[in-house]
Amino acid sequence: MKLIAASLALASVLGAQGLGLISAESLKAKVSYLASDELEGRNTPSAGLDKAAEYLGEQFRKAGLEPIGPGGSFFQEAHFAQITPNPEKLSVRLVTGEKALELAPDTASVRSLTALDLTDVAVTALPEKGELPEVRGKVVIGAANVYGTEAGLTRLQGRQPKLILLVAKRKGRSLSTYLDDAESGQAPVLRIGNEDAFNTITSAQNLKLSLHSEAPKIEPATVRNVGGILQGSDPALRDQFVILTAHYDHVGRRPGSGDQIFNGANDNASGTASVVEIAQAMAKLPAHPKRSILFLTLFGEEKGLLGAFYYTRHPLVPLAKTVAEVNLEQMGRTDDKEGARIKEFSFTGPSYSDLPERMAEGAKAEGVNVYKKADADAFFARSDNYAFALAGVVSHTAVVAYEYDGYHAPDDEWQKLDYENMASVDRGVAAGILKVANDAVAPKWSITTATEPYRTVH
Ligand SMILES: [Zn+2]
Repeated sequence: MKLIAASLALASVLGAQGLGLISAESLKAKVSYLASDELEGRNTPSAGLDKAAEYLGEQFRKAGLEPIGPGGSFFQEAHFAQITPNPEKLSVRLVTGEKALELAPDTASVRSLTALDLTDVAVTALPEKGELPEVRGKVVIGAANVYGTEAGLTRLQGRQPKLILLVAKRKGRSLSTYLDDAESGQAPVLRIGNEDAFNTITSAQNLKLSLHSEAPKIEPATVRNVGGILQGSDPALRDQFVILTAHYDHVGRRPGSGDQIFNGANDNASGTASVVEIAQAMAKLPAHPKRSILFLTLFGEEKGLLGAFYYTRHPLVPLAKTVAEVNLEQMGRTDDKEGARIKEFSFTGPSYSDLPERMAEGAKAEGVNVYKKADADAFFARSDNYAFALAGVVSHTAVVAYEYDGYHAPDDEWQKLDYENMASVDRGVAAGILKVANDAVAPKWSITTATEPYRTVH
């Protein structure tokens, strides 16, 4: 009897030192700061986003994690820019055989950091499906619906063409100011929306392009991913990593709406606070997990997964040694339009790998259920995990409630979150992460057609 009593007492002490430290009060303090009016909705880039980054760096430092940046900083600094194209003098001419096609400026747009000046340059056509030809250093042309998607562009850019020409039948939106990586070294992208061009190009041989465009206006903007590392305890496994992420940006202020500040409490101060809270608790576990864990909060998700794509172009730990990435979104609201979500969470793309199942085993021990949303595969490409998937890393986004009143509206406020539930769910997530970090066998993609783009990266 005594022995049992002693070990129970020990277990509760360990609990209080570890995942038991995850608390509703502490989560509320974090979310209410990140989603306060002072941070002005954390647009990328903005002063509010910078304040959030400073706060997060301080939280990771307090947790005792190892810094990811130079000189003991917890920042991964990215040199981005606000780019305003100068479409006035854009001219595009395509020639195939006897036929020449002069394109009206409003049917073409170009994303480039520099002026472009090409005359009668040979263009390599990309196949509608199947293997890519050698594209390095070449001007390539492909259908926008195949190569203009995030997945298509990521795959192409990885092979370093000189310029990417995308053609659709109809003209798209004209390009206004956009945020982009000023040092990515990626190929300029010319988009054309014109039925004639589309028909010519898909059947054309010996295609030649002439293109002249002015340099855009460029305003530098430094933005930061923020994170820290918890070193693994097993010498044989500690060079392998699990990454836990959340995007800390939101959409900022929008003139004309009643309140003007979109505070983004559930989307995604809740996921951000959860990453920090879990990091602080895990750092105090009596024994660290066997694999190392990178806790990472990302900028620019709302602008197109920018921080996540930046990370996968500049990984802090080798992608091939990253066994899984779990991204947290919308962890605080339980009032899903499909019904209340109490002590449970769900994964996007649940059929894509065995990670959800394995996380569920860990979560179960904390009394937290992993539920399956019927159409959750459709959400797989809608958050930062997608950038990691396109880099080959088994990755999913964990979500408590998918759709709730106030999504992307000014009244996504910190008072509306259920912090007790959030603390329970976070303990479940943390237990799931520990399970994955400790298991000898790493998670695997399911062998299905849907996962092919992710399985075939390495
Ligand atoms: Zn979000």
